[in-house]
Parts: sequence; structure tokens; C-alpha cells
Amino acid sequence: MRITVLGCWGAYPQPGEATSGYLLQTDKHNILLDCGSGVLANLFKFINKEDLDAAIISHFHHDHSADIGCLQYASKFAMVFKKRDVPLPIYANTKSNRFADLTYEEYTVGKEISPNISLDLDGLKVSFRETVHREYNLAMRLEYEGKVLIYTGDLGPETDLASFCTGADLIICETSLFEHESGLFPGHMTTRETAEMAQKAGAKKLILTHFPHVGNIRTMPTEAAKYFTGIIHLAEINKVFET
Ligand SMILES: [Zn+2]
Ligand SMILES: [Zn+2]
Repeated sequence: MRITVLGCWGAYPQPGEATSGYLLQTDKHNILLDCGSGVLANLFKFINKEDLDAAIISHFHHDHSADIGCLQYASKFAMVFKKRDVPLPIYANTKSNRFADLTYEEYTVGKEISPNISLDLDGLKVSFRETVHREYNLAMRLEYEGKVLIYTGDLGPETDLASFCTGADLIICETSLFEHESGLFPGHMTTRETAEMAQKAGAKKLILTHFPHVGNIRTMPTEAAKYFTGIIHLAEINKVFET
């Protein structure tokens, strides 16, 4: 699996950048994980609008969902101009009343995900686990041809995600806080908390993302490395990672 970072900021984007969004690709798939502010403009550098197979949304906070409306318009244009013949599926939890907005005329269709509903998207298996967050959030486990990728969405350190992450080749985990800031924003992780979770899960590789706007994020990998013995990367717009 190949993952391209389309946006890696928490809350709001830095100039010319975007909040949460990742393009997951295999030999058969183009799947968008989260659709935050600024994500679409970056997505279309990598694929055409008609080539997107699905979007999966971790939760409905704006920094993960702000561009969904424009994604729906893009699907409409693709269908009206006969570049696409089926509505774009947008997967998300049904606990938010925003779920109903995911179905837009005949151009996009909202589809439910939950801890009890796993997906098989043409060989890509996706399962979900609820995390502790201020909005109902589902972490995702994506499995394809023996590789395992986890994308957490947002979560607090009370979440026990280690068993869900077992065997992970790569964990993309929100890291909104520096080590000394534990609890500053409840429902978010510090470098230490992220690293300890990845260590407990036995992950091979960890990508820190969903960055704060105050502080030098370049120091985050050093903080995390005290608690995680695998490979650590800092997410960066347009950067590509492989499982
Ligand atoms: Zn967020
Ligand atoms: Zn959130």
C-alpha cells in the first residue's frame, strides 16, 4: 500500500497546506482517508476526480471533513461529463447527523461504517475501532496482500488501540501535542502517548501527523524515539510512504 500525505495539520491549515487527508493507493485502489480543509486541491495533483474509488471519513470534525461538499461537486462533474458512471461512496459513522449529507443526489452515497461493519473493497479489508475523542471517531485498519496500515483519526490516550493495531506495518497516528503538554487538549495525543501506543502494538513504522501550530514540530520525532524503537517519520505534505 502506498500512502500520500495530502494534509497533516490539526484544526486549520498552514498557508498553502491542508488539514487531515491521505491518499491510499494499491494496484487496484485510490481511496481518500479523511477530507479536511485544503485536501481536494492537493488530491487532484495525484489523481483525476473520476479515478477516486471511495472516501472514508474518521469523524466529522471540520479538519477531517471540511472539503466533503466540494468532493461531492467533483463527483457530480465527473458523472455529468460521463467520466464516471457510479456515485462516489463516502463511508462514515452514522452517529453524527451530518451522515445524511453524504448522499448528494445521484452523485455520492453515504455508507455506514462502525466497529461491527468491516469493508471488503475489492480485496482491501477495512475494519474500525472507536477511539476516545470529543466527536465519535473511528480508527481504521486497512489490510491488503499481507500488509497492515492503521490510520487513527483523532484519539485521546485513554484509547486502548494496541490490540487493534497488532501486526501493523505502518501506523499513522495523530500527535497534536508535545510531550510536556499531556491533557492540554483532551482527546488528543502527545508524542510520548503516540509512541507508547505504537510500541505496545509492536508496529514497524510510525508516522506522526495532525500537527499543532505552536512549537517546533521537528523535535517531535526525537521526543517519540524515547518511547518507540521502530522507524519514525514526520508527515509532510506530498510525502509518500509505503507499507
Ligand atoms: Zn482533528
Ligand atoms: Zn477531531
